[in-house]
Amino acid sequence: MMRYVIVGGGVAGTAAAENIRKRDLEASITIFTDEPYTLWSKIRLPELFSGSVGPKDLLVRKPQWYERRKIHLRTELTVNAVDPGTKTITTSKGEEVPYDRLLLATGGTAYVPPIPGADLENVFTVRKLEDAIRIYGQLKNLGNIVIIGGGTLGLELARNLLETEADIHVVESHERLLPKLTDPAGSEMLHLRLTHLGINVQHDCDTEAIVGEGRAREVVIKDGRTLSCDAVIIATGMRANKTLGEALGLEMERGIIVDDHMTTSIPDIYAAGDVCEHRKVKYGAWRAAEEQGAIAGANMAGEDLVYEGTVPSKYVRVSGADVFSAGNLDWRGDLESKMHVEWEKMGYKRLVLEGCKSGGAIRIGDLRDAQRALRAIDNGTDVCPYMEDLRTWDLSFVPKAVTQNR
Ligand SMILES: Cc1cc2nc3c(=O)[nH]c(=O)nc-3n(C[C@H](O)[C@H](O)[C@H](O)COP(=O)(O)OP(=O)(O)OC[C@H]3O[C@@H](n4cnc5c(N)ncnc54)[C@H](O)[C@@H]3O)c2cc1C
Repeated sequence: MMRYVIVGGGVAGTAAAENIRKRDLEASITIFTDEPYTLWSKIRLPELFSGSVGPKDLLVRKPQWYERRKIHLRTELTVNAVDPGTKTITTSKGEEVPYDRLLLATGGTAYVPPIPGADLENVFTVRKLEDAIRIYGQLKNLGNIVIIGGGTLGLELARNLLETEADIHVVESHERLLPKLTDPAGSEMLHLRLTHLGINVQHDCDTEAIVGEGRAREVVIKDGRTLSCDAVIIATGMRANKTLGEALGLEMERGIIVDDHMTTSIPDIYAAGDVCEHRKVKYGAWRAAEEQGAIAGANMAGEDLVYEGTVPSKYVRVSGADVFSAGNLDWRGDLESKMHVEWEKMGYKRLVLEGCKSGGAIRIGDLRDAQRALRAIDNGTDVCPYMEDLRTWDLSFVPKAVTQNR
């Protein structure tokens, strides 16, 4: 009987376990997670800060899901060491567990840029559910909250924190908001929406320091301005959790390097999700982590599947608007594209063309055809015969998806 051990119970680890079980009904499959929860949705984490949802609402998998599949989920246990010679892992309780194939799906940690004062008492980062619960308790009845970072997490936190009735300020160093998801026009549209909601937002705005004695009192901007604050949240991205990989001496750059089969430089050790880097790309996205985990799991169970990469795509809800973006966003505006701005509805649509292929898409507001746009990009659909349809944003020429039982 094969013994599969998975370190990390996020979406990558869970997808791997599910895909091993689909192919091997007898194997022992164990997921170790240092968290006390089953798989939960990081995408929905900011909602916790509105006070309208609780931790249980964020759970994606119930305990029964694991039981039905005979996947042994061992919570609140950190895997501290891996010995590839004896093929064992050691947990924080000193237990040694043997494996035949091992997956490192340890995700990432919040990245904190080297800003003086980032270690003050009321300066937070948000990545884990426990952190979010603890921090939310400290954000009630405050006058000013400053969020450093105008990416998905920063903007979503801003909108949800409006419910606390504090004045919310977002400062983003990049020249665009949501820099990985929008082009300049999309960023402007989001700026308009955020301002409309009452969020003070500034891009192209570098933080110099956070100052205060013990507790943060002011955020100092590089141009000399200051923002007074009762709490600061730093939402400036993540870094791969490389501790185990480093201890193992795995080949590593921004993450553990994996090949197209999701294998690492040590036999029988695989990696997937935010912890890894594939063909020099580190995604930091739910869909990519899930796809990588599924392929790693299948290959651990004996398949020979190739991971070709994931078209970067994200659905997010920012400042009350649905935002979707996928593929090449051509933010310099070098390529031909179909663009439509609806000022009254504060909506924006753009389809980027790479010759006869649709290379990328951005939608703010109306996302009804976002799935079709994504499929056109994923499948390399030839859009040249449909230029007339594209003029009216009719994507019905893109075939429907084949639905899969999950
Ligand atoms: C707040 C937030 C919002 C996001 N919003 C979006 C979004 O809107 N759209 C999108 O596409 N993506 C979003 N992302 C990114 C997306 O959630 C991640 O890319 C994805 O969850 C990565 O999954 P993973 O399984 O690789 O890692 P993780 O989800 O980080 O899971 C890794 C798990 O391993 C555990 N672990 C680590 N080391 C050990 C160890 N030694 N022993 C035991 N357990 C260990 C960790 O505690 C964690 O539970 C968001 C991320 C965050 C944090």
